Amino acid sequence: MTAPELETQILDAVDKFLERDVKPYVLEFEHADRYPEEMVEKMKSLGLFGSIIPEQYGGMGLPVTTYAKIVERVSAVWMSLSGIFNSHLIMAAAVTRFGTEDQKRKYLPKFASGEIRGGLALTEPNCGTDLQAIRTVARRDGDRYLVNGTKTWISNGIHGSCFALLVKTDPTAEPRHKGTSLFLAEKGPGFTVSRKLEKLGYKGIDSAELIFEDYAIPAENLIGGKEGFGLRHALGGLELGRINVAARGVGVAMAALDDSVRYAQQRETFGKPIAQHQAIQLKLADMATRVEAARHLTRAAAEAYDRGERCDMEAGMAKLFATEAALENSAEAMRIHGAYGYSKEFHIERYYRDAPLLCIGEGTNELQRILISRQLVARNPI
Ligand SMILES: Cc1cc2nc3c(=O)[nH]c(=O)nc-3n(C[C@H](O)[C@H](O)[C@H](O)COP(=O)(O)OP(=O)(O)OC[C@H]3O[C@@H](n4cnc5c(N)ncnc54)[C@H](O)[C@@H]3O)c2cc1C
Repeated sequence: MTAPELETQILDAVDKFLERDVKPYVLEFEHADRYPEEMVEKMKSLGLFGSIIPEQYGGMGLPVTTYAKIVERVSAVWMSLSGIFNSHLIMAAAVTRFGTEDQKRKYLPKFASGEIRGGLALTEPNCGTDLQAIRTVARRDGDRYLVNGTKTWISNGIHGSCFALLVKTDPTAEPRHKGTSLFLAEKGPGFTVSRKLEKLGYKGIDSAELIFEDYAIPAENLIGGKEGFGLRHALGGLELGRINVAARGVGVAMAALDDSVRYAQQRETFGKPIAQHQAIQLKLADMATRVEAARHLTRAAAEAYDRGERCDMEAGMAKLFATEAALENSAEAMRIHGAYGYSKEFHIERYYRDAPLLCIGEGTNELQRILISRQLVARNPI
């Protein structure tokens, strides 16, 4: 089968799953903030937890361009669902890119099947953007490390069992990033989930605070086997994370547009569908243009990633534009829908609650602008 044929087959399977097993239940799961166990089982059988894990380690080995299309489709139906495999795959990507051969053989097949699921544990109560300020410490103790500290806002924290955990192995190192290390941390004694965090949107998926108290982790779980590369390994995964979030932004922006195009032809005021009022037409045109532009930027970043090029600027631009597009389109969709946009019986209010997260996660949009600007100057020296 050629790569385009394979992509078509996979996207068709994803569309069928979304149509049959997700769409009819979104409102129910969203408003009950219920974890979608059955959908997770179906995502396992679709192979989504291994979509970009190399075939030799049990995954599908899909290019990130195809993966971004999957994320866009899933997010257009229910963004929360994408969060269950997105940060899981960023953890897997850190192992694929930087792990030892033993780590790859031990973990990647189980990540790919979804037998072990998890995510990224970087953020702490005192820092998110400035990850060099983390306070979680891992001290060497023979052939293991003892970890103490707190992580917060960790997606899949309750239902996941393994996390790429960023710690300080040398809290006094200068520059600070040289004291960081990234471990694969499986739940066990000393690793507890202290609470589920309540939030505005992104319902159904668990966000949790994790506490480590003399949690013993084998030295062989240090990703790459050498201390001091934690931040580099974590941020290497975030390039993929940014493409991922950009694709979510495209999905949410598109869902807000599609619902609005439909509604504007159904709803009549002053004797004609509101789609025939110029004020609404202007909104629809801007919304559609944002979706197209966001999709192109996301595809360009994914293509650069697949070619193995440095793509932090491209991924940053895609993330920035697509997530702001999701925010603007969800607000415009709410205006177009009038009171129904405010109703929990429609999806618009969910897009409106979900979109702001996209502007915060995987590096805030303020940070993206700074990174884009730095790269611009670095790539164009005089
Ligand atoms: C629902 C949800 C899920 C999440 N999932 C995860 C997860 O799975 N794993 C994980 O590790 N984290 C996760 N996070 C945390 C997320 O990554 C952080 O919230 C994010 O990185 C921002 O960090 P912060 O909240 O500490 O904000 P801060 O870093 O405190 O930033 C506050 C404000 O200051 C701005 N700012 C900071 N530094 C600068 C600067 N140098 N220049 C200009 N402006 C600046 C920021 O842009 C922001 O506007 C999640 C968060 C949420 C809400």
